[in-house]
Amino acid sequence: MDLQPILDGIADKIGPHLSEGRVADYIPALARVEREQFGMAVITCKGETAQTGAADTVFSIQSISKVFTLTMALGKIGNDLWERVGREPSGSAFNSIIQLEREHGIPRNPLINAGAIVVTDVILSNRADPGGRGSGEAGIDAIREILDFMRSTAHDETIAIDREVAESEAAHGFRNASLANFMKSFGNMENSVERALRVYFHQCAIAMSCKQLARAGLFLAADGRDPISGKRIVTPSRARRINAIMLTCGHYDASGDFAFKVGLPGKSGVGGGILCIVPDIAALAVWSPGLNKNGNSHAGTLALEMLARETGWSIF
Ligand code: GLU
Repeated sequence: MDLQPILDGIADKIGPHLSEGRVADYIPALARVEREQFGMAVITCKGETAQTGAADTVFSIQSISKVFTLTMALGKIGNDLWERVGREPSGSAFNSIIQLEREHGIPRNPLINAGAIVVTDVILSNRADPGGRGSGEAGIDAIREILDFMRSTAHDETIAIDREVAESEAAHGFRNASLANFMKSFGNMENSVERALRVYFHQCAIAMSCKQLARAGLFLAADGRDPISGKRIVTPSRARRINAIMLTCGHYDASGDFAFKVGLPGKSGVGGGILCIVPDIAALAVWSPGLNKNGNSHAGTLALEMLARETGWSIF
């Protein structure tokens, strides 16, 4: 299939929709991102690539990082993770606290904020010290390990953290602090709330382009093995399960709607990015900062709908 004309056609059709969403405004560093931007990149399991628009522009990946930290935490403690976080769609907002109280501090799934903070806590408690480069400070080492994982899956050492976004997340992170404190009170946090949040805010502040993200996610399209380098990242059954969680939980309380419209495992972030996996075929990422009412990229979702229609890539 010739992907380039399909992507270019989508970029043409998406123009009028770029001004329809609302840019995330909970922190100044995201609020000032220009709304009318759009990029998309696809990489197939055979290594073919296609891209359109601002596919090389870096943006704040935000919650898309949760897919990668989940992969890391499963690699560290395996199925024990499921004692501390569930695998059900939440049906509520990404930062909801009500459900957490009802369910005794066990977050519904690893892709909402509370679940991702538990995952970060697991990475902190089980952090590696590759090559003995450890700084001696747990938070710094965990942040470095997460960044190293993103760089290695994307095959790009230039990937970096936007410090301003990280600091501003911390300065405005009252809701996340209450989620973390809540879980701590239920005994579901091993590290201090401050330390876990520091790592969580830094992982959200990683800046990547559509092209880098699609490359980083490619192992999930190929049974857990990077089809280009041949390196195994996770087992086939784990890759399948991460995809299942993306499909059912990757779009906050609009996950069902995304499955209905696009039919692919995906994870969105409030920076306007969406990573999508087409099992056995490709990984792709789209970015447009205007968000719909559920906090998912408005034009990005429309673009993925068009792509799924034109390629027949829906898994259903
Ligand atoms: N840093 C954001 C938060 O924790 C992530 C939001 C998102 O992309 O879902 O509030």
